[in-house]
Amino acid sequence: MRSRLLLLFCLLSALIVSISNQAIAAISPGVVHEGRAALKAGTIEWVPGHRDADFETAHYANWSWQPLQKPNLGKQKEGVWLRFAVDRDSDSASDERWFLSLKWPVLDEVQVRLFFPAENEWGPLMRAGDHVPMREQPVADLNLVFPLEVKAGEHAVVYMHLQTWGMMAVPLVISDEPGFVAGKIKDVAMISLFFGGMLVILLYNSSLFVFTRDLSYLLYVVYLLSALFYVVAITGFGQLFLWPETPIARRFYGLSAALCFFTPLVFATRFLSIRRYGGWVWLVTWVLMVYWATAIMLILLAPTLTRYLASEAMALVHCVLTMAAVISLWIRGNPSARLFAIAWSTLLIATIAHLLALEGVLPLNTLTLYGQLIGMFAEFVLLSMALAQRINVERERRILAQQSVLHASEALAIERESRLQAQQQALDVQMRANEALEARVYERTRALEDAKRGLEMVNEQLTRLSITDALTQLSNRGHFDVMIDEEIRRARRIEMPLSVLLLDIDHFKRVNDTYGHPFGDECLRLVADTLKQHGQRAGDVVARYGGEEFVIALPGMDATQAAEQAERIRAAVAALEPRCGEDRLQLTISIGVATLDPAAQSTPAQLLAAADAALYRAKHNGRNQVVVAEPLQVIERSDD
Ligand code: GH3
Ligand code: MG
Ligand code: MG
Repeated sequence: MRSRLLLLFCLLSALIVSISNQAIAAISPGVVHEGRAALKAGTIEWVPGHRDADFETAHYANWSWQPLQKPNLGKQKEGVWLRFAVDRDSDSASDERWFLSLKWPVLDEVQVRLFFPAENEWGPLMRAGDHVPMREQPVADLNLVFPLEVKAGEHAVVYMHLQTWGMMAVPLVISDEPGFVAGKIKDVAMISLFFGGMLVILLYNSSLFVFTRDLSYLLYVVYLLSALFYVVAITGFGQLFLWPETPIARRFYGLSAALCFFTPLVFATRFLSIRRYGGWVWLVTWVLMVYWATAIMLILLAPTLTRYLASEAMALVHCVLTMAAVISLWIRGNPSARLFAIAWSTLLIATIAHLLALEGVLPLNTLTLYGQLIGMFAEFVLLSMALAQRINVERERRILAQQSVLHASEALAIERESRLQAQQQALDVQMRANEALEARVYERTRALEDAKRGLEMVNEQLTRLSITDALTQLSNRGHFDVMIDEEIRRARRIEMPLSVLLLDIDHFKRVNDTYGHPFGDECLRLVADTLKQHGQRAGDVVARYGGEEFVIALPGMDATQAAEQAERIRAAVAALEPRCGEDRLQLTISIGVATLDPAAQSTPAQLLAAADAALYRAKHNGRNQVVVAEPLQVIERSDD
């Protein structure tokens, strides 16, 4: 794209140069078309001021006319008067027509009248300029054009009164009709080339904006539109075609010029990232933007105040400062500043050449007159190249950024992967440790429970052993003592009787002696089983009292019931008749019965003593019998 733009630029420049070789005779407009001296013009003289004077006064009053040295008269707020003589050859063709062109169409108002001294007559008043409606101008043209109605052989003096707020430039051209037409074609060709080129750049950058959404392109397009606006105004194109009758159009020249200073500042701020660089460059940009924004507002809203803006001086300051700023950015390594500086200086050089031509230093021709257009066009081509270059740079940067992001994300993924793995490993280790711990806790708990259960069993066994007689599996005497104590208390509490049987096997010594001690033990077990069968009610206690003696507590039984129960026991034991070999043994038992009267406050010892006494009597009376003790005496309860 850059090379294509460059090619386009070269082509257009070549065309412009080729058509710009026609010199504009401004200082001494003795111009004769194509070398034919058909109309001779004298030296142009001028005088400033005399704003309100009329043409008669200009002719007759003794003003101090001076020759015009250069086509640029600078600021002439009070206006100027111009005059020069014209002489037409007497042998020139009668149908020739001549035109005076002022190629500075932004002048406010130019009045022209021809004076014919021979007849002492004035030609008609002609008016042109951007304060004059197009229909009132003698010739509709880009430039300010006045027909010179001079007959063959006639002599006339052309008087011009010029009035303008801006720069008073008077590039004058006198040409015959073919020359006028040729010049016009050249002007239009020049401007059309410029517009065409600008249009290409405009469309190119508009489409770039649409595709990239980068604000730089939009701002650039806005700048370009401002430049077009300026060119349309300064070439008279706008006055001729776009706004011939619009009153506000008088301000368009100033407005477009101010815009041409303001919009590139905005564009450059964005394009060169000036804010990022800060410092004086940013300050200068900012101050200039504020100044030109103010100027634009004043031109639109309060045009009379614009005279206080000193905009010509400011324009110069602007050019110098912005050039310095762009070069500073270039030195500081701003990638786009180099092309920007070149572009900006192209316009500056062209403008300087243009101004030098107006000052008479350089020849005033199409090239120098439209130099600004060429400079401007070159600037826009170069800026387009800078923008295109930036696209490339940014694309490369974006690709690099994408690559580095890719690398970074890959590294991140690997890192995350390894961290996850490490976490997983740590988790596994922890899980295994937890499992091992749980297993150990479970084992320990089970061992503890086993141990506890064992201990309980041992305890139970010990308890059982401690209260049980090993041989007969009946309660032992210790246990009986505890039980009888409780039973006596209970019997008293619920006022129920309690009987105790004391039992002793008869002549047991003989059994041992006769059949041996083991058989004696067998007999003891048999008797114990029989006793157990007769003491099965809840609360009944059957115990071995020692040796071959037993004791039975029968709660709730009175003496009679106890005696009957004792008798049943005695009979049951007597019926046992245990075998030893061939022998059947006659085994008997004697029983002493004692009953506790609940009202009586007797002790366990007393109760047992009473039973013992009854047993003794049973033995004494012949054994194998039941003896019931006398009712116990009521005794005072002791403290036991
Ligand atoms: P009595 O009719 O007057 O009660 O006469 P007895 O022989 O039964 O009385 P004695 O008190 O003189 O004898 C008790 C005997 O009981 C003495 C002892 O050898 C025996 N004996 C005591 N304990 C056991 C024991 O655990 N096993 C065996 N086999 N014999 C025992
Ligand atoms: Mg005994
Ligand atoms: Mg005995």
